[in-house]
Parts: sequence; structure tokens; C-alpha cells
Amino acid sequence: MELWFTEYQTSSLGITCKTKKTYHTEKTEYQNLAVIDTEQFGRMLLLDGIIQTTIEDEFVYHEMISHIPLFTHKNPKKALVIGGGDGGSIREIIKHPSIEKAVLCEIDGRVIEVSKQYLPEISCALENEKVEVVVGDGIKYVKEHKNEFDVIMIDSTDPIGPAEGLFAIDFYKSVYEALKEDGIFVAQTESPFFNKDLISRVFKDVKSLFPIARLYTCAIPTYPTGYWCFTMGSKKYDPLETDIDSIPDIDTKYYCPKIHKAAFMLPKFVKNLLK
Ligand code: SAM
Repeated sequence: MELWFTEYQTSSLGITCKTKKTYHTEKTEYQNLAVIDTEQFGRMLLLDGIIQTTIEDEFVYHEMISHIPLFTHKNPKKALVIGGGDGGSIREIIKHPSIEKAVLCEIDGRVIEVSKQYLPEISCALENEKVEVVVGDGIKYVKEHKNEFDVIMIDSTDPIGPAEGLFAIDFYKSVYEALKEDGIFVAQTESPFFNKDLISRVFKDVKSLFPIARLYTCAIPTYPTGYWCFTMGSKKYDPLETDIDSIPDIDTKYYCPKIHKAAFMLPKFVKNLLK
């Protein structure tokens, strides 16, 4: 018997994948958590029926949320990931030799444990000696840390439930304060086709707090519309001025020095969201 999984992305659109196996399902304190295997994308982590990451295309998201801010900063030593319990962003951060410490603050400890069990390719750096794992609310964690991080990444679920506050201006104010004087933050900010109001509002908020606000995009086949964006707030360094010839060669599949700048070249309809 064939079994197919559908993520309903809007009330009239979905992505459907033929499944091979269900590895795990549970209801955690925060959400329904599942790991399934699909023919097209391999193993997938689902939260409340929404695709979080897949073995086949995870590299795009995790490389782009990490290497763009880390190579924009001249010498990042301490990084923080809010959310990101699958460990993919931490795996990428650890590739930077300048990093002395990477903290992961994930609200749902079960996401971390289940990712370690079924997605070792993604979670593999969570046991690294430079990594500290905190199970807790990222909003509270950021409020309690001042002037501490070089780079902060908001690797969150969609802006509903516990992640809603991670898209609010009060949270961005706390992020600003948790960063050092030349710090940078990046947040995943959904699809430019489906989340126009959110992207415009977040960009406006970030621009009101940080001297440098930028938006960049990439292609992620399993996320709604396949086209995704990240919003960056930077206190000092402008990614458009990064000397890309000085970026060392690291082990990536999507990110490269030319993409470091090209990702900020926006189609007109996306640029218009930032006015
Ligand atoms: N790459 C993914 C995407 O865009 O779909 C996000 C992956 S990661 C699994 C998102 C994580 O954010 C989830 O595990 C969720 O539990 C966590 N999260 C949601 N709200 C949070 C909060 N307030 N503090 C910390 N983590 C949170």
C-alpha cells in the first residue's frame, strides 16, 4: 500500500510526498513531533505537520542562515542559535575556526533528542565541546544575556505558537542588547510570495533598531513556494561590503563567496516589500 504525506501550506495548497517509513511520532509539551522517510527528500522532521528540515535539502537553509552572518562578521567567536533543535545551524557554525563557543537555545528538548536519534547527519555537532545546549524559551534567554554574542541566528518555526514572539520588535530589541557592539543577527523570515506583510513589518522593525538592515533569499524546495528569505540586522558590518576574495574555502554545497553577495540581489517584487 502506498502512503503519502501532505503538508497543507495554505487553505488551498499543499506539498505531497510518497513516504517509505514512519520512524517516530509523539506529542511533546509544545507540538506534534514526527520523523518520516520519503522517497524524494529522505528523512524529514515534521512539527505539527509542517516540514522543518529534510536530509536532501537541509544544506541550503543551514548554510545560508549561518555562513552569511559569520563571514560578514570579521572575527566571530561566540554565536547563539535560537530554535534550531535539529542542530543543522550549529553544525555549520562549528566549521568556523574562529568560533570558541556556540550556544543552542531550543524550547523543546524532544526535538533535540529525536534529531540526535534519527537525523545524525544534521545533529552531529551537538556533542561538540564548543557547543552548549540550553533547553528553554529563546525570548527569556536573550533577555537575560547582554553584550555577549558576535552572531545570533533565529532558526525558528513559523510565527505561531511558541515562535510567535520571536518575530516581535520587543524580541529584536533584546537581540540587539545581547549582541556585542559589532554584532550581527539573522532571522528566518519565511516566503516572499506568501508572507509579504510579515517580511515588510520585520524589515521595518529591524531597520528601526540596527544601522544596517538587509534581506537575502535562497531556494529551498520543501518550504512553501520553494523561495525563502532571511532578514539581517547588523551593528557595524555590511554584507555587501564583505571582501569575498578573503573568504576561505569551507565544506559547503550551496554557500560560496559569490552567493554571499548574490543572495542580496532581490527581484523587484521582493525589493518593494522593503520600502
Ligand atoms: N528550519 C526550520 C524551518 O524554517 O522550518 C526551523 C527548524 S527548527 C526545528 C525550529 C525550532 O524552533 C523548533 O524545534 C521549535 O521547537 C523551536 N522554537 C519555537 N519557538 C521557540 C522559542 N520561543 N524559543 C526557542 N525555540 C523555539
